[in-house]
Amino acid sequence: MLTLPRFDWVHPETLDQLLDHMREHAAESLILAGGTDAVPNLKHRLHEPQYVVAIGRIAELAFIRHETDGLHLGPLVTLSRVASEPRIRAEFASLARAAGLVAGPQLRNMGTIGGNLCLDTRCTYYNQTYFWREALGFCLKKSGTLCHVVPQGKRCVAAHSSDLAPVLITLGAEVEIAGHAGRRTVSVEEFFVPDGIHNNVLAPGEVVTRLFVPAAARGLATGYQKLRPRASIDFPMLSVAFAARMNGVCESARLVVSAIAAKPRTIHGADDVARGRPLDESVAGALGELAHRQCQPLISVPYDHDYRRAMVPVFVRRAVRQAAGP
Ligand SMILES: Cc1cc2nc3c(=O)[nH]c(=O)nc-3n(C[C@H](O)[C@H](O)[C@H](O)COP(=O)(O)OP(=O)(O)OC[C@H]3O[C@@H](n4cnc5c(N)ncnc54)[C@H](O)[C@@H]3O)c2cc1C
Ligand code: SF4
Repeated sequence: MLTLPRFDWVHPETLDQLLDHMREHAAESLILAGGTDAVPNLKHRLHEPQYVVAIGRIAELAFIRHETDGLHLGPLVTLSRVASEPRIRAEFASLARAAGLVAGPQLRNMGTIGGNLCLDTRCTYYNQTYFWREALGFCLKKSGTLCHVVPQGKRCVAAHSSDLAPVLITLGAEVEIAGHAGRRTVSVEEFFVPDGIHNNVLAPGEVVTRLFVPAAARGLATGYQKLRPRASIDFPMLSVAFAARMNGVCESARLVVSAIAAKPRTIHGADDVARGRPLDESVAGALGELAHRQCQPLISVPYDHDYRRAMVPVFVRRAVRQAAGP
């Protein structure tokens, strides 16, 4: 049986209380929202904090607001709510779809969108028990000096595995971050960095306080496709998000492939390929080939990387067809 390490609970009831605690104790604290990723990681001793800061009681972080400038979401909104809220389903279909494809129903009822965005990167050599990792001499990401995926590498290449992040990038979404020095906003694309040890720009003590999807994303044609071993529970071994502005033909397009590196990969040139053309099979095929050339899955995800690479154009085509509609 895997047990939790010893820690002290902290239960802030307001954002100010949370930020006050983080100002003093950021280095020794782990934020816990729904806990669906944080608790298994604690049991694996991947985090060994002095304080676990449970933010679930902070009511001001659990809102859904449809406003004229776009959709505002508090980080404590659950994945189930995003998947089922009628207006999100109607106006931001790929976002609702991605939320509904995370894990299984129980995990979606507990899991939050803030936790999904800040999800730790995953690796065959990292998401293991302490005993397992110790037998291998640990690794760069935690307690060791070597990467078992790229042994000569100096950087962790564990996989970004959030279902929502690639979709949010195609929708041009932004993240609001708060810390004791104030608030700042970055695009979801800029939120991530290609470093598997800590793959986002959150500084110690900073927390995600809002997600914003601009009104311009309301009219987009979108698709989200996820490759996983089973149709439930499993993390993506490859994911593809696509969004296009259509006016008879494509006016602009964004394509993002994820679960292949520490940061979701925006496919360069997707807009050039699709612009001025209908979303037909020829565009879907060309986008698939473009993505195939730019994506090299690594063995950090425990499934055959050649197979995952071969599936890149297949899943791109499916995402484009889904955006094109019936
Ligand atoms: C069996 C299983 C299958 C899963 N499958 C999937 C899947 O298919 N796709 C997928 O995307 N995820 C999957 N997950 C991971 C997880 O369930 C979801 O990503 C979920 O959305 C995480 O949200 P949470 O609230 O539970 O996060 P938590 O576990 O509470 O936190 C996750 C991380 O985010 C940080 N965090 C949380 N909120 C904030 C905040 N507001 N500001 C700053 N940091 C914050 C925490 O400190 C922690 O590091 C799976 C998990 C399990 C156990
Ligand atoms: S990619 Fe390398 S350093 Fe990162 S978790 Fe995996 S084995 Fe460790």
